[in-house]
Amino acid sequence: MDDIQKEFLEIVADVRAHLEYQRALGVKAIEVSLLDDQKPIIQPAALSLPKESTAAAPAASPVVKETAKTVDAGRPATLESIREEIGDCTRCKLHKGRNSIVYGEGDPKATIVFVGEGPGFEEDQQGRPFVGAAGQLLTDIIEKGMKIKRADVYICNIVKCRPPNNRNPEPDEVEACIGFVKKQIAAIRPKVIVTLGNVPTQNLLGTKEGITRLRGTWQEFNGIPVMPTFHPSYLLRSPGEKGKVWEDIKKVMERLGIAVPAKE
Ligand code: URA
Repeated sequence: MDDIQKEFLEIVADVRAHLEYQRALGVKAIEVSLLDDQKPIIQPAALSLPKESTAAAPAASPVVKETAKTVDAGRPATLESIREEIGDCTRCKLHKGRNSIVYGEGDPKATIVFVGEGPGFEEDQQGRPFVGAAGQLLTDIIEKGMKIKRADVYICNIVKCRPPNNRNPEPDEVEACIGFVKKQIAAIRPKVIVTLGNVPTQNLLGTKEGITRLRGTWQEFNGIPVMPTFHPSYLLRSPGEKGKVWEDIKKVMERLGIAVPAKE
């Protein structure tokens, strides 16, 4: 693939991520204005609409009205505005036991976003993601393995409040919160997402397939390549699996053009 093709694919991915983001905001259609001498690329006939519908689709249709209203309201979100939208959240029952909302941290223009499951005890205490024992291992993977600074990536979770006793987040909790991580990803527009374990992998990809089968294989979320790998907590319990995570991380490094050490 030459540079122009790569650039074209990146533009397509950016447009797609932007449209997915608009859809997450509730936008149902986008109005496209044509210059006077331009013809629509897709002619109404090609959409197989009945004649009446084609004729009755001028700018004043309800869909266009709703779109215009929502697009106006939907200025591109920033990480700050998404945090503001979360506010002092009570959207799910996890708020009752939390000490802090663990929003996420890192470079707002990061090329890599790591997505975990939800805060544990230390994270809830400090209000920062991945700062406990599993967090130290993730930091080592990033800094000692990938040789990049933790501050140069972005780290967040599927749910922002700690589930009691570190249990997996329940479906209603994920449903209440997952829109925010999707918006964070849309705001950052990373080149790669690394999902850590079953919860972020299954919920972002919308699959029931387990991490053991998916890890190490490239997936996609809204046009962004996703590399699922094991969660660092699992590696603390099963250190023999670390080599597999390193294999997955090397694929990410190769894709991003980060030099992979010849020998570990
Ligand atoms: N485990 C997670 O999934 N996220 C954290 O932030 C910490 C531990």
